Amino acid sequence: MKKHFFTSILSAFFGLTVALAAGPIDGKWSGKIGDDYALTLDLKTDGNQLTGTIGNANGSLPIKEGKVDGTSFSFKTEYDGNVIPVKGTVEGDKMILSVNYNGSEVPGTLMRQGGSSSTATATRPRAKPEETEVWDPVPKVITAGKTPLDAPSDAVILFDGKNLDQWVTVKDKSPANWTVSKGVLTVNKAAGNIETKRSFTNYQLHIEWKIPEKISLTGQSRGNSGIFLASTGPGDAGYELQVLDSYENKTYSNGQAGSIYKQAIPLANASKKPGEWQVYDVIWNAPKFNADGSVQTPAHVTVIHNGVVVQNNYELKGETTYIGQPQYKKYESAPIKLQAHGDKSEPISFRNIWVREL
Ligand code: MG
Repeated sequence: MKKHFFTSILSAFFGLTVALAAGPIDGKWSGKIGDDYALTLDLKTDGNQLTGTIGNANGSLPIKEGKVDGTSFSFKTEYDGNVIPVKGTVEGDKMILSVNYNGSEVPGTLMRQGGSSSTATATRPRAKPEETEVWDPVPKVITAGKTPLDAPSDAVILFDGKNLDQWVTVKDKSPANWTVSKGVLTVNKAAGNIETKRSFTNYQLHIEWKIPEKISLTGQSRGNSGIFLASTGPGDAGYELQVLDSYENKTYSNGQAGSIYKQAIPLANASKKPGEWQVYDVIWNAPKFNADGSVQTPAHVTVIHNGVVVQNNYELKGETTYIGQPQYKKYESAPIKLQAHGDKSEPISFRNIWVREL
């Protein structure tokens, strides 16, 4: 096919545009035919009649004898007395074209263009509801818990009231030595922090905790513990969601229950009285790091405390620290850690801990 065939003649024809109506063929299309020949179509259907233009960046020509049959169509265009038949079919936003030039079928593929016709009255082809239906993949079927407190079938059970098989002591990885009694896990402050044997990246966590009814002391010394959403090292290294008695117990706002310790003040204080069980439901999106240790995506956390959103997709500034500014430290997956805080108040308790990897 002569490269300059359309280029030479189409430059003589400018400015013909058509209003578009609904239909699979209606609209603007662009692509290539033959080896490398750019082509545009601007088409309008009216029953089984097809009108519009054929062209390229230099201009356009009106089509003739346009006919439509469902998603197939044909028309002719004329150059220097030669009639050139064109036929095609449309599948969604793709058009397969065949141009008969001097007896040879020259194939082409055009795609629907996002913009509307250049006329003021133009409308884009009417979309069908089926076009935005996605049937695959199908989400896996799980069995939800009896209540929102109960673990669904795909959860990893971290503590179900029976034992600490899923936990180790942080400092030496020996078996976790906190107290399990009557289905409840109580902090053993002398034994130090404990963490899960398994490591996690992104997850949904459910954990229940209780401040003793007869809690003593004040501020940060009153029922302090914490859930490190990623335990990135010994001691308190990692990202701490604070646990504290914050029922009528004043402390710094970014250190009360529901805070991301010293980073994010909870959006509300939803604390229950000492002696009542409280619930954290957490969605943790771990930070992503580049090979050189720099942060690709910061960590984000959503925390629901007793049914109340207290952290709303908060973007962390780094690991939580007692002194100084937060900083990120590269890790890929990490255990979940529970804090044995050094305050002298009565130890707090946990129960019903489960996690779903995301
Ligand atoms: Mg704490």
